[in-house]
Amino acid sequence: MQYHAAFRCIAGCPGEHSLLTPVYHCPSCGNLLEVAHDIDVLSKRGPGSWMRLFDERYKRTIWPYGSAVWGKKEWVCPAVDDDNIVSMDEGGTNLFWAERFGAELGLDELWVKQCGNSHTGSFKDLGMTVLVSVVRQMIRSGRNIRAVACASTGDTSASLAAYAAAGGVPAIVILPRGKVSTAQLMQPLANGATVLALDTDFDGCMAIVRRLATEEGIYLANSMNSLRLEGQKTVSIEIVQQFDWEVPDVVIIPGGNLGNVSALGAGFDMMARLGLTTRQPRIVVAQAAAANPLYLAYQNDWRFEPIAARATQASAIQIGNPVSIEKAIRTLRRYDGIVEQASESELANAAALADRTGMFNCPHTGVALAVLIKLRSNGSITPNQRVVVISTANGLKFTEFKHRYHERALAEVSADHANLPVELPRDYDAVRRAVDTVVEA
Ligand SMILES: *Cc1c(COP(=O)(O)O)cnc(C)c1O
Repeated sequence: MQYHAAFRCIAGCPGEHSLLTPVYHCPSCGNLLEVAHDIDVLSKRGPGSWMRLFDERYKRTIWPYGSAVWGKKEWVCPAVDDDNIVSMDEGGTNLFWAERFGAELGLDELWVKQCGNSHTGSFKDLGMTVLVSVVRQMIRSGRNIRAVACASTGDTSASLAAYAAAGGVPAIVILPRGKVSTAQLMQPLANGATVLALDTDFDGCMAIVRRLATEEGIYLANSMNSLRLEGQKTVSIEIVQQFDWEVPDVVIIPGGNLGNVSALGAGFDMMARLGLTTRQPRIVVAQAAAANPLYLAYQNDWRFEPIAARATQASAIQIGNPVSIEKAIRTLRRYDGIVEQASESELANAAALADRTGMFNCPHTGVALAVLIKLRSNGSITPNQRVVVISTANGLKFTEFKHRYHERALAEVSADHANLPVELPRDYDAVRRAVDTVVEA
């Protein structure tokens, strides 16, 4: 079967562009591109047969299909040769029933999709494996690509650096100085990327990397490059697969540059078009109140204005001028979308409250959980709905956030669930008294 996918203008200009050319915008109108698949060819295989194929491959060992991204290769990027794929076994992350936290909120079916349990600790790996594999194919077929580069709020650069290093491609990452966590700064350094830390914010870094890509023969690895979204969209397919091909009622995702909410919708679209699903979830985007341009647009009949994002603990979504705004609005209109925001205090306390039921949440997941709490208490989410919260990064990348929360040292946050070590001398009675104060006799 000859599967086919190509770039197409999101505004509908005619023509298509090969996935194996460095092109990020429509040459006619300047809009973003998206990857379009030949649905007629894909529908020659029936829905049951696709489900069986994906289930057979899931987390097995036949290269490259054990990766939950490449296990859906025909739907993602059929043009890449298997021996050009740069994969470190992406996806297949746990989707667990958060029984106790759900019960505290009056929800029977709260599920957390733990995307941060991945190679570099965030869901960015799902897309980066696709982008770097395509780059390797282009280089091996003789195209001159000097390096891959991205502007990043931390996780994109960690992921790009790891996949570029695995694939033997030079990587350049451009970060806002002092605005990413220590772990996120160490990751690209350890992987040997060139790290440029600029005195600006993410939006400032983005403007510079765009110029590098157009003027210097550097391949752009930001989500403006819709190849990444093809990998990211497997998250919705994987969630439905993990529910034995049932669609949940609500999916909540934290949003910054807004590529991922579009990717989430694209995965649901594709399952519906190919007959694997017959219903749609409601999609909720959660934003930090300090960086809420989509929330403001939602309040204003989807009229969007860029803003200057303020500092937030949810540093990976501190973005005021999201690149994928149009794609995101289009997705939310189709998926009965809701946008809600969370203050610094709300996001930090939601993360900590859920941690008390056994999780270890990053601040972005905290934003999603705070929004869940709000929507549950205002009745937008009802007790019997099946809700999935997408946890986007591993909490262990954000230990400064946790540490300062529990020390009650975070700005604008009253830490309602702080828990500090009890420091004691080496004395049995002191320890016994400490135990007696917390545990019933
Ligand atoms: C990138 C990222 C997001 C937001 O994804 P967008 O596509 O930029 O909206 C959320 N959380 C974490 C941890 C991220 O790294």
